[in-house]
Amino acid sequence: LNRRLAGLGTTIFAEMSALATATGAINLGQGFPDTDGPAEIAEAAARAIREGRGNQYPPGPGIPELRTAIAEHQQRFYGLGYDPDTEVLVTAGATEAIAAAMLALLEPGDEVIAFEPFYDSYAACIAMAGATRVPLTLRAPDFRPDLDLLRSLVTPRTRLLLLNTPHNPTGTVLTPDELTAIAELAVERDLLVVTDEVYEHLVFSGAHHPIAALPGMRERTVSISSAGKTFSFTGWKVGWVTATPELVSTVRTAKQYLTYVSAGPFQYAVAEALRLPDAYYADFRTDLLRKRDLLDAGLRSAGFEVYEPQGTYFITTDITPFGEKDGYAFCRALPARCGVVAVPNSVFYDDPDAGRSQVRFTFCKRLDVISAAVEGLTAGL
Ligand code: PMP
Ligand code: GLN
Repeated sequence: LNRRLAGLGTTIFAEMSALATATGAINLGQGFPDTDGPAEIAEAAARAIREGRGNQYPPGPGIPELRTAIAEHQQRFYGLGYDPDTEVLVTAGATEAIAAAMLALLEPGDEVIAFEPFYDSYAACIAMAGATRVPLTLRAPDFRPDLDLLRSLVTPRTRLLLLNTPHNPTGTVLTPDELTAIAELAVERDLLVVTDEVYEHLVFSGAHHPIAALPGMRERTVSISSAGKTFSFTGWKVGWVTATPELVSTVRTAKQYLTYVSAGPFQYAVAEALRLPDAYYADFRTDLLRKRDLLDAGLRSAGFEVYEPQGTYFITTDITPFGEKDGYAFCRALPARCGVVAVPNSVFYDDPDAGRSQVRFTFCKRLDVISAAVEGLTAGL
């Protein structure tokens, strides 16, 4: 490994999912649903393959049907107008969108301010771009951003703010007031904002607000989302970017040399998915909320300190009540002890001490699976 990738060996998700496979434990580590998304959307992908749509390289920016559906989605949910031809880019999941945005927008030596704990690909992509990450640590129990601290972290080298709302792993959903303060700072200091909104439809209290909709922000914001979480097809890896023509074309330049294009037939299916009626989105949220509440109550009764998430499908806990301090060691021992896999939050911090005793569980699993996991935790801890 070169110096840029030093310390970034194997992702925690691969490590913990391998542990689940090896031990047969219930995997509440990596966030992927154990129930696929709507059958008619899966059928739309199969139909596209059978009918020969997307089986050869699709257009670089994504198929027009999907770019139009993405633009319609931004208008329908947020009143944001984007031109499907010049302001939308389809990517291989949000992961590629993040990578392409970092590689295209950053110069070596630039600083990027990101909320810590951060989703692990942020650190890697900022490093691969030769830039420096500057963490704004969200602290228990509330995990709200300290906006005065944020202001003080901006230097002449700061190029962009990397936001994530709803936030993985804490479940924090930024409020309109917080977003307004961040937007004002971005305008004042002429910063770009890259915002990862893959959990935009997984919000249980409050609502998701895209920062691109705030005054002065549309022209400086690269918004990223994907189909994986919203439609429960995380394996399809269809993501997208919406931004101004200049920003989209900059990100696209990098994207061209990462994957060139992403899988064609899934793009046709996701175009249909985005047009599902409001009831789909509402039912999905109601179903997940039931799962959140079941896991939340179960973790509390098993003895964890639980930080209730406002969004995403993760719950962050603290293991101090068990007399334990090290979340990584706790997670390594958990399959044998309780038959459950979880993820230590310390890997999402630059300063692992900040999240040493935090452990994340996902609740995008069937209710019976969550109940079985809670039984294991209650018995083993
Ligand atoms: N951003 C965040 C915050 C995530 O949790 C994830 C994980 N799914 C991604 C991006 C990656 O999304 P995708 O699977 O669409 O690449
Ligand atoms: N986003 C998912 C999580 O946080 C997993 C993504 C991945 O495996 N890279 O669990």
